[in-house]
Amino acid sequence: MDLKGYDEWKTSPPEHDDKFVCQCETCNEDLYAGDEAWYFQPDDLYFCSQECFKKYLLRDPEALADDMIEMLEEAGDLYESEVEAD
Ligand SMILES: [Zn+2]
Repeated sequence: MDLKGYDEWKTSPPEHDDKFVCQCETCNEDLYAGDEAWYFQPDDLYFCSQECFKKYLLRDPEALADDMIEMLEEAGDLYESEVEAD
């Protein structure tokens, strides 16, 4: 086995025909046109994986909880109510 050739192959960056678009907001992985990625519309950000998006959300748990509460209220799944007897 030609190890020298293997090392060269391993260390050279993968070739892309597509054009570079942006980087994953969390891990800075390069994202190219046509790549599978996760797009977060409210902040106009791309993430290479759901894992990276999770890390992005968890950078600010307080804000995440606020957004969650807002979403649940809009969906009608969370509201202030008097405690009702059966
Ligand atoms: Zn990433």
